[in-house]
Amino acid sequence: MFIYLFGQIVLNWTPSRMKNQKMKKIIVNYLVLVLLLCAGLDLVAQEEKAYAQRTYIHCGSLIDAVTEDVKKQVTLIIEGDQIIKIAEGYLAPENMVKLISLRDYTVMPGLMDMHVHIEHESSPKRYEELFRNDDAFVALKATQFCERTLMAGFTTVRDLGGSGVNVALRNAINRGYVRGPRIYTAEKAIATTGGHADPTNGVRSELRGDPGPVEGVVNSQEDAMKAVRQRYKNGADCIKITATGGVLSVAKDGSGPQFTMEELVGVIKTAKDYNMITAAHAHGKEGMKRAVLAGITSIEHGTLMDEEVMELMIERGTFYVPTLSAGKFVAEKAMIKDYYPAVVVPKALAIGPKIQETFSEAYQKGVKIAFGTDAGVSPHGDNGKEFVFMVEGGMSEMDAILSATRTSAELLRIDQERGMIKEGFYADIVAVKGNPLRDISLLTDVDFVMKDGIVYKQK
Ligand SMILES: [Zn+2]
Repeated sequence: MFIYLFGQIVLNWTPSRMKNQKMKKIIVNYLVLVLLLCAGLDLVAQEEKAYAQRTYIHCGSLIDAVTEDVKKQVTLIIEGDQIIKIAEGYLAPENMVKLISLRDYTVMPGLMDMHVHIEHESSPKRYEELFRNDDAFVALKATQFCERTLMAGFTTVRDLGGSGVNVALRNAINRGYVRGPRIYTAEKAIATTGGHADPTNGVRSELRGDPGPVEGVVNSQEDAMKAVRQRYKNGADCIKITATGGVLSVAKDGSGPQFTMEELVGVIKTAKDYNMITAAHAHGKEGMKRAVLAGITSIEHGTLMDEEVMELMIERGTFYVPTLSAGKFVAEKAMIKDYYPAVVVPKALAIGPKIQETFSEAYQKGVKIAFGTDAGVSPHGDNGKEFVFMVEGGMSEMDAILSATRTSAELLRIDQERGMIKEGFYADIVAVKGNPLRDISLLTDVDFVMKDGIVYKQK
């Protein structure tokens, strides 16, 4: 049709003396031939382009996280940002196709950390820095944390609270200005007045003000709804609340409940309306139980979780994100004089070591465990140490890997596109030399990182 119309247009432009039937036929035929040739050449060019975008990866061993088997000698074919084919054996690549040989390696889906704070990192100066560093400085410094996280093999993270710089970091990474993991962010955590994550705790009185839902501090169901909507407006992907006291806040209590049931329902129902998942920081039992009953998606830390709460979580499909790394790190640093403010030290010593015990019980019982470190409390880039702590706590190596891939993708509700090595899924891929099922510590130093089909690290 297009060719015919084009022929007609040209014909109408030709001088009238050429407009006899025979000439018309010859010209139309000629044009058809030229256009078909062009189309043919275009197809070849397109095919060449596709091949040029194609990468073959020869995997010695493959943990695809779809099943629990380890497959041997597999070829992954990547085109653009997707895994388009998985084939048995080492396929020889066509012309122009790039080959990456990982024949001595174990290849896995990109790792996911469900609890980081990408804006900051622990230091004895951390509290003071909150007053000194502008957002622009925080953002520039955090680009380093993003880079380290990606180089550690974590292609996706969930940021559970900062100042809002995390939203800009997410966007900058997505647009290719900064190298880092894909970020799903809660923007600023929601707290109650004086609760964990009230941004003015411990500040001298004339600077304290009275933060409200816009700043993420709530004191009623209505406030709670407003705070969630504000986070949505600010660009958050998910919601974080501080259901109980916390270790690092400048406040005495580290475990009591800090939200009423009405406030929790206000947060969680509103978040559901906006299609956002919810996470509750929780150390004490009562706050944890209320959050689970109100329909929270995940419990973070879960330090004093007991059998009753575990059963409730299993019944309701609530995820548990243990953050053993944070527990270990704060307990260790609390021994160093003046690392934390005095009010933090007893909480860090009491709560830190308890998390791993709880984790072991929850795993035995069958609570769904997603991988999370609380990096930012512990150093960024050390995320892989969590695997070691999980295995130390009694989890099998395979389950630890699944928690950081398939289960975390399920928590984020992206399990139809990421978290597994599967045809049609995005090409987020990592590899380590050797067998992580025999030595899980290999995951503390990942050798190969691909995110969305782009290689960021290859040792
Ligand atoms: Zn945290």
